[in-house]
Amino acid sequence: MGEPLRKIIIVGGGTAGWMAAAAISKVYQDRALEIHVIESSEIGIVGVGEATIPPIVSMNRLLGIDEDEFIRKTRATFKLAIQFVDWMGPDTRYLHPFGQLGLGGFPLPMSHYWRRLRAERGDEAGTLWDYSLTSQAALAGKFQRRLPYANAQADIAYAFHFDASLYARFLRELAEKNGVIRHDRKIEGHRLDSRGFIEAVVLEGGSSMEADFFIDCSGFRGLLIEQALGTGYEDWTRWLPCDRAVAMPSEFMPDIPPFTRSTARSAGWQWRIPLQHRTGNGLVYCSSFMSEDEAESVLSGNLPTAAAGDPRFFRFTTGKRKLFWNKNVVALGLASGFLEPLESTSIHLIQTGIEKLLKLFPDRSFRREDIDLYNRITALEYEQARDLIIFHYFANGRTDTDFWRACRAMDPPDTLAERIELFKGYGRVFRREDDLFSEISWTTVFEGQNLRPAGIDPLTLGMPIEGIGEVLRSTRETIWQGAAAMPPHPEFLARSCRAVLGADASAAVPA
Ligand SMILES: Cc1cc2nc3c(=O)[nH]c(=O)nc-3n(C[C@H](O)[C@H](O)[C@H](O)COP(=O)(O)OP(=O)(O)OC[C@H]3O[C@@H](n4cnc5c(N)ncnc54)[C@H](O)[C@@H]3O)c2cc1C
Repeated sequence: MGEPLRKIIIVGGGTAGWMAAAAISKVYQDRALEIHVIESSEIGIVGVGEATIPPIVSMNRLLGIDEDEFIRKTRATFKLAIQFVDWMGPDTRYLHPFGQLGLGGFPLPMSHYWRRLRAERGDEAGTLWDYSLTSQAALAGKFQRRLPYANAQADIAYAFHFDASLYARFLRELAEKNGVIRHDRKIEGHRLDSRGFIEAVVLEGGSSMEADFFIDCSGFRGLLIEQALGTGYEDWTRWLPCDRAVAMPSEFMPDIPPFTRSTARSAGWQWRIPLQHRTGNGLVYCSSFMSEDEAESVLSGNLPTAAAGDPRFFRFTTGKRKLFWNKNVVALGLASGFLEPLESTSIHLIQTGIEKLLKLFPDRSFRREDIDLYNRITALEYEQARDLIIFHYFANGRTDTDFWRACRAMDPPDTLAERIELFKGYGRVFRREDDLFSEISWTTVFEGQNLRPAGIDPLTLGMPIEGIGEVLRSTRETIWQGAAAMPPHPEFLARSCRAVLGADASAAVPA
């Protein structure tokens, strides 16, 4: 085996760079390993990744973060679901909720028994979302951490919306406390050793910094993974043709809905992310069908509150690096690939990248087997996130524009086609061991986009319909009562997390 690493350089101080620095410095406490972050305040960060999914809660735990302090310092709000508006045509909407459907008590997932009840008793079965606590709470604007049932010990499944710049700053504080050394310098080049490994980065002015291991968090540029090592990029535009975004903040929404909203527009979709002090908004669109001026006008004409800043424009190509770990460089964040934020997966992929890196942490021998495994699993995670995003486009119900018609005409990837075919039979979703999205995620999105199975699962016939009806009726009632008993989301933020909401929040110094 090789010698231990002596020095790591993390290139970039955005969400990816500081997440990596905070996590590695927390876990690897021996200061014999130097961890340096090089970022350029002149270049800045992308500053738009503000919606997350529930596993982020475990990242916070790994970092030893006090969640209420995190909520205050990053102006965060809670998130229970993503709402999809107008994806199936005008005035349509459905939720992709976090957490469970039903309260257990059936041998198969609850959705199968709901489908049988609906087939035999029609409206008596209600909708699938009547069995989702997070859906009912989200729609009622309610939130609390603990499940609202008698003697419940577990938490609700939740994630966060936060201010991306404040999040990077928060993580930087943690990392610097752990001994990470920050350099505000611009990198202008690199030096390779005889094996083609990165030996050093060359800084503006000509000096250089050497290290054994480099983590490329330089954003879309991919300074080391692409510009230095020429790793290559797999382009997924044929499935995800949107290649531009425009973002514009607006004033805060006093009711702070505890969910992200995604509204389909003529050639893309618009996000709405409510924070404590402002609302994040943006339009992801396809430049072959919409001009920059049109995109700006669609976004500014559909803001939920008065505009509170200028538009910022982004260009991207959806896809992933051919390798995420190449030689002595691992790419995280935008340097590793890009998936549009429809299912809030990018920050999550940074997290899983860091978690895998910690499990496969290298020494100076850089074992081939570890690197290959890292690349294989990361590619799979990217593909799983990609497939759910593609499904939204492929199964859209809009007939109004060429963009949406073109999306329906695509050939989906085989992995997605297989999932669709399986569901079309008996509403089955088979969760493989490492699947990113749960059976509930796929089921609610399939149902929400009107994918209907031909039949009900034959195993449900083993239970009398009266019994199914009774269990489902009492489940609905328990869930409605639970959601009704929860406090309004703004009240929870103010009382339990001591957050300062609204205009006052902008002036408040985070505690
Ligand atoms: C429009 C849009 C919306 C998004 N929304 C979401 C979302 O809701 N949820 C989600 O999970 N993800 C979202 N993402 C993705 C998310 O923003 C990123 O995954 C996340 O912010 C990580 O970015 P990063 O740290 O990789 O890159 P950046 O934030 O761009 O950071 C790059 C860093 O590298 C430094 N750097 C670059 N070049 C040099 C150089 N030459 N010398 C020195 N330093 C350098 C920069 O200074 C900066 O510090 C969105 C992305 C876009 C484009």
